[in-house]
Amino acid sequence: MNRITQCMHGRGTVSGVMRHRHKQQGDVPSNFLAFSGMYRPVVFWNITDRCNLSCTHCYNKSGPDRSTAGELTTTEAMGVIDDLADMGVPLILFSGGEPLMREDIWDLALHAGSRGLKMALSTNGTLITREVAGRIKECGIEYAGISLDGARAETHDRFRNLPGAFEQTIAAFAACREAGLRCGVRNTLTKENCHELEEIVDLAISLGASRFCLYWLVPAGRGIDSYSRLQLDKTEVTDALSLLYKKAKETDPATMEFLTVDAPQDCIHLLASMEKDRSEDLADARKLLESLKGGCSAGTRVANIDAQGNIFPCQFARSPEFLVGNIRSQSFSELWNDSQNPVLARFREKQAQFKGRCRTCSHRDLCGGGCRVRAHAAEGDFYAQDPFCFFEEP
Ligand code: SF4
Ligand code: SF4
Repeated sequence: MNRITQCMHGRGTVSGVMRHRHKQQGDVPSNFLAFSGMYRPVVFWNITDRCNLSCTHCYNKSGPDRSTAGELTTTEAMGVIDDLADMGVPLILFSGGEPLMREDIWDLALHAGSRGLKMALSTNGTLITREVAGRIKECGIEYAGISLDGARAETHDRFRNLPGAFEQTIAAFAACREAGLRCGVRNTLTKENCHELEEIVDLAISLGASRFCLYWLVPAGRGIDSYSRLQLDKTEVTDALSLLYKKAKETDPATMEFLTVDAPQDCIHLLASMEKDRSEDLADARKLLESLKGGCSAGTRVANIDAQGNIFPCQFARSPEFLVGNIRSQSFSELWNDSQNPVLARFREKQAQFKGRCRTCSHRDLCGGGCRVRAHAAEGDFYAQDPFCFFEEP
């Protein structure tokens, strides 16, 4: 995750991370928990595979036809919540499929809230009426990340494979705002919508979104089939990063925070832009990025649980070779803290074995070697260079 706004406007954050790094769980504020000693990840939890939409790029291959067979039962899900609460994870993010299609979402959220867990929701927004927004807020979910892939109905609806989805999504932002629920935009940028990026950002601001989170396409799920057709090239990526930098500079950080996801190498562009601007926050930004030891949090500060209880290092690292284990045979906390787990060990100690450009790159410690899912998909080799990196050594 590339924290554009935090780096550009976030003086003081580095010292916060450092100060809380080695403290006991109870002494660490929740926003710093992911950075403290033991691995306490933000957990992206796909609670169901079902979705009312069937989007072109869905990493989970979700859709209306997906079966619920084998999904965790309510009792099993409650057990996962207890385990995550005991472990002190900083945040659970309920995702899917469409998480609002799981009938017991309210019970799960109420239970997680009663155990002191912070919660967010990742949703396509089309099921969020005023009543649903109120319910989300009442059960303790603090934030809804809503997918918005176009500034116009035809672009968004084509992605989402549902005419009318755009209008429903726009209405969802209004419903959240009315309910006092903080919400943000999740945008997947591809060849089909990159020309609309500025309009999408402006639309997000006008909708009252407090976050703009840009996802690059990752070859996972249905994203594999459309990857070569939709993935952006060097110029398109550079233009998008420059535009987000400009928007983050113009926008009050208290109004909207800008982030990019799934390409840790984006931080090189960010630091170069700040250097060009002679930003007084440059040194702090560099220190923050260095303290995170590479932007990819998979297997350390981020974890994924799928609908069947399988655990993966992140929500996009879903191929069989990335399976950490299943909560039906061992608890999440045991698996996550097992230093012998071969999948986690590979993600946590990957840098020594990088190949290609990532092996010799001068930014390796800062970027952490890009995205291992892309490297693996392109070359069948976990340690290969990330093909989505356009950085060139001078
Ligand atoms: S492996 Fe790739 S998709 Fe997963 S967290 Fe790291 S950068 Fe993101
Ligand atoms: S070559 Fe690899 S290590 Fe260097 S910036 Fe690109 S992804 Fe990161």
